[in-house]
Amino acid sequence: MAATYEEVFENNKKWVSAQLEKDADFFNKLAADQTPDYLYIGCADSRVPANEIMGLDPGDVFVHRNVANLVNNIDLNVMACIIYAVNTLKVKHIIVCGHYGCGGVKAAMQPKDLGLLNPWLRNIRDVYRLHKDELNAITDEHKRYDRLVELNVEEQVFNVIKTVAVQRSYIENRYPVVHGWVFDLKTGLLKDLEIDFEAMLKRIQEIYDLTGELEHHT
Ligand SMILES: [Zn+2]
Repeated sequence: MAATYEEVFENNKKWVSAQLEKDADFFNKLAADQTPDYLYIGCADSRVPANEIMGLDPGDVFVHRNVANLVNNIDLNVMACIIYAVNTLKVKHIIVCGHYGCGGVKAAMQPKDLGLLNPWLRNIRDVYRLHKDELNAITDEHKRYDRLVELNVEEQVFNVIKTVAVQRSYIENRYPVVHGWVFDLKTGLLKDLEIDFEAMLKRIQEIYDLTGELEHHT
């Protein structure tokens, strides 16, 4: 049920009480530092709350969300999140999480002028172009849409691995590992696309290797 604006503050107080009941020290710990193991990059869609679907508490996951969970190399916001999460927080896992029924992905399948969304959603049209043969072979429109959601996640995982922060950290520390997930709104379940990170990294480094001066151990 949607809360009114005033109710949000009431909810906040109830949440504080509930947290303190579970752990009297909760906010002292929260204020002290953050040491999350996960960076989550997901869609801004209100139905896909990162912490809740992963069953994680405040402090457990560093979150970046935008329309259709895109990792665009000239988006300073997502790039800053990745660099900070990898170099400073030293996260062990980076997750790109899409979701079936994504409005951004659906919009990118329509022959329409969507204003400022055009350049943003063009990233998804590029994913379509890369996988045109596979997608066009799917006759059921809903299945084609679901598959584009998955392929979009996969391509954004590629984009995360193209960053020097991830390549450098993995060579030096063997982390972070990058994963692709899809959240199913109809069941609430997360699907791991089981992307082979090592194989993907090798493919990426054929062209996007930015670690020339480092010693490779792979
Ligand atoms: Zn979405």
